[in-house]
Amino acid sequence: MQSFDVTEWGKPLQSALRATPTPVGTEVLMRIKYCGVCHSDVHIRDGYFDLGGGKKFFMAERGMKLPVTLGHEPFGTVIAAGPDAKDVPIGQDRLVFPWTGCGTCVRCLEGMDNHCMAPCYLGVQRPGGYADHLIVPHPRYLVDATGVDPAWAATLACSGLTTYSAAVKLLPIPKDEWVLVLGAGGLGLSAVAMLRALGHERIVVADLDPNKFAAARAAGAAATVSAGAADVLEQLKAATGGMVYGAIDLVGAAATFQLAYACLRKGGRYIVSGLYGGEVPISIVPTVQRAIMIQGSYVGSPQELREVVALAKAGKLKALPVEQRPAERISETLDQLKAGTLIGRVVGVMSVTAVMD
Ligand SMILES: [Zn+2]
Ligand SMILES: [Zn+2]
Repeated sequence: MQSFDVTEWGKPLQSALRATPTPVGTEVLMRIKYCGVCHSDVHIRDGYFDLGGGKKFFMAERGMKLPVTLGHEPFGTVIAAGPDAKDVPIGQDRLVFPWTGCGTCVRCLEGMDNHCMAPCYLGVQRPGGYADHLIVPHPRYLVDATGVDPAWAATLACSGLTTYSAAVKLLPIPKDEWVLVLGAGGLGLSAVAMLRALGHERIVVADLDPNKFAAARAAGAAATVSAGAADVLEQLKAATGGMVYGAIDLVGAAATFQLAYACLRKGGRYIVSGLYGGEVPISIVPTVQRAIMIQGSYVGSPQELREVVALAKAGKLKALPVEQRPAERISETLDQLKAGTLIGRVVGVMSVTAVMD
């Protein structure tokens, strides 16, 4: 099999050939067709996340050893299974839930793998989908997305799931209230599409780059504001007629946190999913008096991924434009994501290369 690996933190991915693994126990072997190229892989390839205040979260200190195969938006064909895997759809295409936990703790057993304290995520702690083959630990992580464009379906495993899980944390959203979406990159556009799929229309998108506003409108935003403008709060007030009910932050920087905090109405909810990094001082008294809720939201559960796919199958979730690129261009795509020059989503086409069984 061929994979595209991080062999040195911060450096381009390297192609590697190795024997295709044999699934054992409950494992399932997939031949990967597509794998979405996600912005968080920029941080993982660099080897750290910025915690703010000069502090960093180093992947190497959290058990990641090089080389590693990234890629956590895999879609492919089930081709083999271990002896303990039951009801395996051999020969069929499936989307893979990549946020797998230890499989034995209380959180995992209740189906909240994404809250497991010993994560074994595909494309992070375990080999991921920037490869033509992938081992999935259990068939319960396979999701049937029949009828959905497979290249777009791949992106539902991270950006779709992340934005869905963030959006449902705002429910129920009163129809006449506004939701602010911070960031108009791939995640921001996905958040807009999720809110629309959940029936909400009053969505205002903020981004530093006005070139991204047309895509935000096309995804279903009712208004856009320039996050970098000195009068951004006035722009928001003009667009929404007042303060906003909720904010979904797909950037996760100090500036976006402060912008959201400043424009939330009493009882407002701030959901942060972006991992840009940084830190902010929070004033306690206004947080209490304005009854502000601040909640982190990290990916989502297997059940939530099934709900996202159900919205897609029902035609309620608007497909975002997806550009397909050969696997050899994933590394360059990560560079473009880091530079912030990419509009829309890129999916790597994985299964065109030679197989070394
Ligand atoms: Zn991701
Ligand atoms: Zn667990």
